[in-house]
Amino acid sequence: MQTETCDVLVVGGGGSGLAAAIEAAERGARVVLLEKNAQLGGSTAWSIGSVTATRTPHQRRKGIADDPLHHWEDMPGFAGDLDPRDNPSLRRILCDEMPETFQWLLDSGVRFMGPMPEPPHRQPRMHNVLPNSRAFIYHLSRRARRAGVDIRTQVHVQQLCREGEVVVGVQAQTPAGERVFTARGGVVLAAGDFTNSPALKARFMGPREAQVEAVNSTATGDGQHMAEALGAQILNGDLALGPELRFMAPAQENFLRRLPPWGWLAELMAWSVDHVPAFILRPFMMKFLTTALAPSLGLFEQGALLVNRRGERFGAESDSPALRLPEQPDKQAFILLDARLGQTFSSWPNFISTAPGIAYAYIDDYRRNRPDVFHEAPTLEALAAQLGMPAGALQAAVAGTRIAPAGAGPYIALGPVRAVFVHNEGGLRVDTSHRVLVGPDAKPLDGLYAAGSTGQGGLLLKGHGHHLAWAFVSGRRAGRLAAQRATGAA
Ligand SMILES: Cc1cc2nc3c(=O)[nH]c(=O)nc-3n(C[C@H](O)[C@H](O)[C@H](O)COP(=O)(O)OP(=O)(O)OC[C@H]3O[C@@H](n4cnc5c(N)ncnc54)[C@H](O)[C@@H]3O)c2cc1C
Repeated sequence: MQTETCDVLVVGGGGSGLAAAIEAAERGARVVLLEKNAQLGGSTAWSIGSVTATRTPHQRRKGIADDPLHHWEDMPGFAGDLDPRDNPSLRRILCDEMPETFQWLLDSGVRFMGPMPEPPHRQPRMHNVLPNSRAFIYHLSRRARRAGVDIRTQVHVQQLCREGEVVVGVQAQTPAGERVFTARGGVVLAAGDFTNSPALKARFMGPREAQVEAVNSTATGDGQHMAEALGAQILNGDLALGPELRFMAPAQENFLRRLPPWGWLAELMAWSVDHVPAFILRPFMMKFLTTALAPSLGLFEQGALLVNRRGERFGAESDSPALRLPEQPDKQAFILLDARLGQTFSSWPNFISTAPGIAYAYIDDYRRNRPDVFHEAPTLEALAAQLGMPAGALQAAVAGTRIAPAGAGPYIALGPVRAVFVHNEGGLRVDTSHRVLVGPDAKPLDGLYAAGSTGQGGLLLKGHGHHLAWAFVSGRRAGRLAAQRATGAA
């Protein structure tokens, strides 16, 4: 089999992989980055794009005096009862390194708006990328290429190669056949999470969770699988954002997602947020908001119903419907409202969905911006006809509920919604140098680093903006350490 050699090998071209590759290459290492998809991006490109950090220029401009230690102290407020399962040393690294890494993102060309408040953070720390999360990939891949990183897409890494107790490379399927890639400094596993690995979800969460798909269908836990084969351990594999209901993404991308992530455009958007009246900005924000977001649980608390494609309810809306939805026809459902609920969800505090720190969307926003998931009719029968459901089934569904069976129109159906995992926390056990730990005595495996979701190491990243922050911080550190090891080996 053909073999190629470099200093540092990075597996995965999302946020953490690009950060690792840049950092290693800018330190003079010869870096090859292998990405299994045709495009770079991973979950990083799917994300909303919130990044939480202290001591940012944005905070300073607003006169906010903040501190990484305070950030570290505030994070357990998000973890709640799970706090004993956190990794406080990795949390310290995250909070201490974010001010510099945020500046590094700015230096790479990425632009943000904010910061927005998010209690229990004692200060506003959440920043949102502009114009959208593809900007991370656009700017970081350009910086990586400038630094000389050899980026290969459609290369699916399948197994780690070990010589004695040292990881020396990987075996991968490339468009030209199987190849071995070896690296003198080491391999950085930056292959994302396992939200779309039925086997890992079944093992850590349960058989019903295993049936729920992921937003990012290629997040199959390859890094976790490959490292486990060498004796590594997955921590916090049972914790995830999901399963939850999400509106189907629009068939066509809205114009804000299609905007190229040019620096001047992002600057203009950031300026507008602070200087343009909210009523002018709102339609633009709404386009951003109504992509593939979660419907608020408040809908069901106030009496909205969830029906499947046959117009039937499938259990209590308050009892984890996302776990039962994969068993329904087409794995899809609709949220049913009458005129009273339509009125209730037209203004604060009753919103349909939110992109945290950006905006809230109400009934009218969906009517205007998402006609593909907004259905309205004067009677239940007419609504059933629109949705291709038997009218009798919808009538039976509302019997005995807070939705009036007649005369309470217009009736509204929002959907389809589907059940998904957004991200999960099950990363490999690592030390504070991002080395993967193996065996019962948790010894570092020489030559193997893990970053981002693959190298989460038991760190709890609840609240918004911490997953991306970890991807960038841990990726940069792992890349730097692997480059140092390569220099030492030279
Ligand atoms: C809808 C959504 C919204 C989110 N919003 C936010 C947010 O606003 N803020 C926040 O902090 N977090 C958010 N997250 C979470 C965040 O996006 C992820 O935790 C983060 O991007 C993970 O980065 P990563 O580099 O570890 O993984 P990824 O970005 O997923 O990159 C991993 C890459 O590795 C590649 N890969 C995998 N296996 C192989 C293999 N065998 N060979 C070669 N390549 C491989 C993948 O194709 C992928 O490109 C969101 C996630 C989703 C899905």
